[in-house]
Amino acid sequence: MKNVVVLGSTGSIGTSTLKVAEDLPDRIRLLALAAGNNSDLLIEQTRKHQPVAVSINDEAKANELRGTLGANCEVYSGSEGLLKLATLPAADIVLIAIVGTAGLQPALAAIRAGKDIAVASKEILVMAGEIVMNEARKYGVRVLAVDSEHSAIFQCLDGKPSASVRKLWLTASGGPFRDKTTWPKEKFSEITVERALKHPSWVMGRKITIDSATLFNKGLEMIEARWLFDIEMARVGVVVHPQSIVHSMVEFVDGSLIAQLSTPDMCLPIQYALTYPDRAASERVQTDFPKIANLTFEEPDVERFPALALARRAGEVGGTLPAVLNAANEVAVEAFVNRKINFPQITETVRHTMDTHQVVSHPTLEQILEADAWARAAASL
Ligand code: MG
Repeated sequence: MKNVVVLGSTGSIGTSTLKVAEDLPDRIRLLALAAGNNSDLLIEQTRKHQPVAVSINDEAKANELRGTLGANCEVYSGSEGLLKLATLPAADIVLIAIVGTAGLQPALAAIRAGKDIAVASKEILVMAGEIVMNEARKYGVRVLAVDSEHSAIFQCLDGKPSASVRKLWLTASGGPFRDKTTWPKEKFSEITVERALKHPSWVMGRKITIDSATLFNKGLEMIEARWLFDIEMARVGVVVHPQSIVHSMVEFVDGSLIAQLSTPDMCLPIQYALTYPDRAASERVQTDFPKIANLTFEEPDVERFPALALARRAGEVGGTLPAVLNAANEVAVEAFVNRKINFPQITETVRHTMDTHQVVSHPTLEQILEADAWARAAASL
């Protein structure tokens, strides 16, 4: 039985995690749940799963929860609450699925308290991959990937060192604007928010859906892979695979390729992270080969999607540059969603912010957070 803390229980990954817990009541106990603002759903989740503690962003909402949930469940709030939950003595693993940078401090706190972490928030490894992985080594804990691509690579690697790898291949759906004939570069400025929010194969949160349309999502995943699997950027490749059945692949030094496949369903990588090193039986994910019929692969179009090149540069330069890319992108996506900038300007904003940043190599956490704040201000201009 694993005692699991879920930070971000009411979001897309969080609700899938609760489904996995329902599938595997003998293996997973939800020890604590943290939500952003959705107290109604948090109450529902708490009544069903009986965690010993919950946390919500807003202190006023936390007070209401105290009245509603009674004495059997501790209620915390704000960033303090996240730290409290991440370090609960009984916790075995902390799954972090909070949008934005708020997951970084709880991730480090969990590691230092000797907990394994399951990472769904890309920001954690993109911003502070070097620090997080060093701390995990120091405290002897695992950093498990919840992202489908990284879970796939982890499963394909199966403990092999990076020296046995020729290349890691992240697959990308290509997003809603993959088709060059329907969406030539000239038409990118006409892309509406509504259109960008329609993803062909995955139903996800708003930020990640826009990131999938610009391919920044894949860019962030390249940087994540670089740290998770301790491999240089030059050996992290991207291939477009519109069916999203092959979740990623490892090409070994002998030329052999191992891929992990399934119908796209986030419950699978979540379950693998929470039950690792075991594989638990579950009927949830079924793959119907005749229905799939075709698996196709194509080169990503860096001309129309410059996000990939920007991410590669950020990952190669390292230091504070990935944090700057991440922060500038967050600001730009928000501006796009609020109709203040057009679709190509998301990438232009990130490029400009990266170009004007003074990179700090091997930064401390403080320097990373400073770079993050600087980039947010610079990208807002
Ligand atoms: Mg992914």
